[in-house]
Amino acid sequence: MTATATRVLVLNSGSSSVKYQLIDMNDGTRLAVGLVERIGEQTSRLAHTPLAAGGDKRETEGAIADHDAALKAVAAELAADGLGLDSPQLAAIGHRVVHGGLKFTEPTVIDDAVLKEIERLVPVAPLHNPANITGIRTAQAMRPDLPQVAVFDTAFHATMPEYAARYAIDVETADAHRIRRYGFHGTSHAYVSRKTAALLGKDPSEVNVIVLHLGNGASASAVAGGRCVDTSMGLTPLEGLVMGTRSGDIDPAVTFHLKRVAGMSTDEIDVLLNKKSGLIGLCGDNDMREIRRRIDEGDERARLAFDIYIHRLKKYIGAYSAVLGRVDAVAFTAGVGENAAPVREAAVAGLEEMGMAVDASLNAVRSDEPRLISPEYARVAVAVVPTDEELEIAQQTYALVNA
Ligand code: AMP
Repeated sequence: MTATATRVLVLNSGSSSVKYQLIDMNDGTRLAVGLVERIGEQTSRLAHTPLAAGGDKRETEGAIADHDAALKAVAAELAADGLGLDSPQLAAIGHRVVHGGLKFTEPTVIDDAVLKEIERLVPVAPLHNPANITGIRTAQAMRPDLPQVAVFDTAFHATMPEYAARYAIDVETADAHRIRRYGFHGTSHAYVSRKTAALLGKDPSEVNVIVLHLGNGASASAVAGGRCVDTSMGLTPLEGLVMGTRSGDIDPAVTFHLKRVAGMSTDEIDVLLNKKSGLIGLCGDNDMREIRRRIDEGDERARLAFDIYIHRLKKYIGAYSAVLGRVDAVAFTAGVGENAAPVREAAVAGLEEMGMAVDASLNAVRSDEPRLISPEYARVAVAVVPTDEELEIAQQTYALVNA
């Protein structure tokens, strides 16, 4: 890395998509952002926005066969703006890696041994880690000399005490198969809990925060003095809150029942609980905007789906209040948390005895900035804190390569 290398490319490789951002670490400026979707199909799409050049979004459609082709297409777009991967200003590539298991609790420079370990974790993250690995391999082939850093979704939750991380099942069986609660969205929970402390004018070590990351996937975490002490996702992202398409918590016996009585296969149950449950399973829509629109029109199914979603959210706010003992702030983030005022209002309604309340006019404000939405008198600060996982990945990557 040269002294002028201040840029980090962040890659988030999914099974059929790659999201990327090129960030200048001098001030966090986005130089370019983009997304490749539907990789492997005839109708792949690349949307690239060269923010540094002040250019408009460029969209190209047409078959992109695999991640290798996708990254080459991204590199070509960046090069067209003078931001190519061969630039000496590029300090590192930061990769989002979903599952770091017990081994990776910090951002890690990727070498062969690290890559092997990420591969060893595929059985506990079959939907995510393979795509992350493909992204890493492809990026390594393009710039073998450049540091590549893995930032793990699970890492922030590694501080959970053993009694929060263990399931109450036979210890030998659990250990033999690495079954425990790992938690996900950690990059977001880390970023948002720190930003919430800053919003309160405090150091993260001084505050206890409940972070509610409510996107299409959703998770809650209890963060005590900057350290995660509990989170709602578990071995996989299926546990916890009601999500866009995932059930969240259910009695595990539902799965035996579906197998024995409904004759469903393990894969069918997997698809049911991960893709056809949650809001979409309850009412046919997983977009909170559409659900609110239907509720406004008097749609009962949408209303019930919303009520189930809120009920679960409240249970976690209550549980994490008990876990933390003292709560200084509740922070809403991600697509739903940042944008859906009715969700925030309903989640906190009736919690005045717990010191939590939402001011209707503050809650109605739309902004990209972290902000308080609780009234002055409330003991607990309720906040909306936009998440920025890409910036967090870039910062962790840059800090590591400059360490
Ligand atoms: P994320 O996974 O964080 O990108 O969040 C995506 C979800 O955010 C969508 O599925 C919607 O349910 C929700 N969302 C995005 N914009 C809004 C909005 N303006 N109002 C309500 N919900 C929204």
